[in-house]
Order: sequence, then C-alpha cells, then structure tokens
Amino acid sequence: MHDPARVKLLVLDVDGVMTDGSIVLDDDGRETKCFHVRDGLAIKLWQRLGFRTAIITGRDGRVVAHRARELGIDLVAQGSADKGSALVTLAAAAGVHLTDCGALGDDWPDLPMLRRVGYPMAVGDADPRVKAAAAFVTATRGGRGAVREVIEHLISSKGLMDRALALYDT
Ligand SMILES: [Mg+2]
Repeated sequence: MHDPARVKLLVLDVDGVMTDGSIVLDDDGRETKCFHVRDGLAIKLWQRLGFRTAIITGRDGRVVAHRARELGIDLVAQGSADKGSALVTLAAAAGVHLTDCGALGDDWPDLPMLRRVGYPMAVGDADPRVKAAAAFVTATRGGRGAVREVIEHLISSKGLMDRALALYDT
C-alpha cells in the first residue's frame, strides 16, 4: 500500500526536516535558519523531473518564504496549527490526490499530515512516534541531507535515477 513510486507531491516540514531544528534568534528577534545546499539541489531536481514540492510549517517567518522562493516552491503554508488541513488544502491546490502525496516530518505536529498521505516519511532523528508512523525513515538527520535522501529514494523508486543524473553528469 505504501508505494514511493506513486508520489507526485512531496510535502516538507521545515524545522527539524529542512533544518537541524535549531531556531536562531538575534537581538532584534530576527530568525535565521541553516538549510542544506544538497537538499536544495534535490528539490530543484525533483521539480525538473516534473514533480511538485510543498512546505507546511507551524511557525511563521520571512526566512521560509525566502527559501521557498529560491527553490521555486509556490505551495507554502506557514503558521499551520493543523498540518492535516493544510495538507488537504495544498494537495487540492496542486490537483494531487492524497494517496499520491509523500510527506516528511520529525515531530508530533507532523502526525496529522503523515497519517493522511499515501507515503509517510520521517527523518533519522525524528521523534519515535513519528518514526513509527512512517513507511520510510532516512539514515540522515534533519537539516543534514534528509530531504536529499528522500528525493533520491523517490526518484530511484520511479526508475528515474539515470535520467536525473544525466541532467548534471553530461
Ligand atoms: Mg519539525
């Protein structure tokens, strides 16, 4: 039933998934996050292959909007108290059925979206209950290449790895 090859829309949490979970605040309360460059390349690759990405985060801030714009992600839900309903809204906007969605999370607020997608995934250092809800758990940690690992896993399941590599290894 959990088939990675079906995934057309990849839904990502931010803190602890696209980052290592650190929330860095300066004296003025401005927030800084560290993203992984190889995650970014994988997201762009995923989209070049014709698939979609969405971001759902419980927090709110310009840093996520900047990163989303940089990566060409237009499906973004910030300040989501209920990630399950945010997922339903974004999947509908993308025209993708929930069974054809994959989601990657790390903590309890991600459970409502992980329960609803066809292919739930957790980062290697996710909370144990989140790992238990996942069909796939990465070897890598959040913010340390977990998104890259997930995208390579999905692409490989679809039999598209050679095509993906050929975009770069010319
Ligand atoms: Mg998180």
